[in-house]
Amino acid sequence: MKLLRSDLNSEFNNRLFDISAEDFPDRGTVFADNHITCELSARNIDFGFKIFGVIKAIPEYECVRCLCTIPRNQILPIKLWLIHDKEKSNIENDIVLFPKDDDEIDLNSSIADIISLAEPMSPLCHELCKGLCSQCGKNMNQVSCDCELDMSNNPWGALNKLKLK
Ligand SMILES: [Zn+2]
Ligand SMILES: [Zn+2]
Repeated sequence: MKLLRSDLNSEFNNRLFDISAEDFPDRGTVFADNHITCELSARNIDFGFKIFGVIKAIPEYECVRCLCTIPRNQILPIKLWLIHDKEKSNIENDIVLFPKDDDEIDLNSSIADIISLAEPMSPLCHELCKGLCSQCGKNMNQVSCDCELDMSNNPWGALNKLKLK
């Protein structure tokens, strides 16, 4: 996604940008949908521009228990300082260098980074995901197998089944 200096100069509010994840540098993120939207506002500041808003993307993750694919609707805040000269500002984070001679700035790598950093440490398809059977490898969310102890004669097993409903 490229922003023009002329557009930034005149500022804007909640402008929508459509981006394709195919244009992103590879950050290891898998996208369920390559279509990404950004809603951004821009302001002039002393040493460049401030942009802020949200990124909407649908990356997909792998459940750590059952290994199924989980698409997740992410709405992520974005706030970046596009500055002319790193030396002259006292801001240290979320900076993108935007030299005065450049007419446009490409934010794809910054956006790819924000989406990549939002990946959960241990993604789960569901809090109660039962995972894979440690013996036969079947997905216990979809099928039951004979490997497990028969819980039906066990009163606690019956109770647990009720709780899951
Ligand atoms: Zn799972
Ligand atoms: Zn099994």
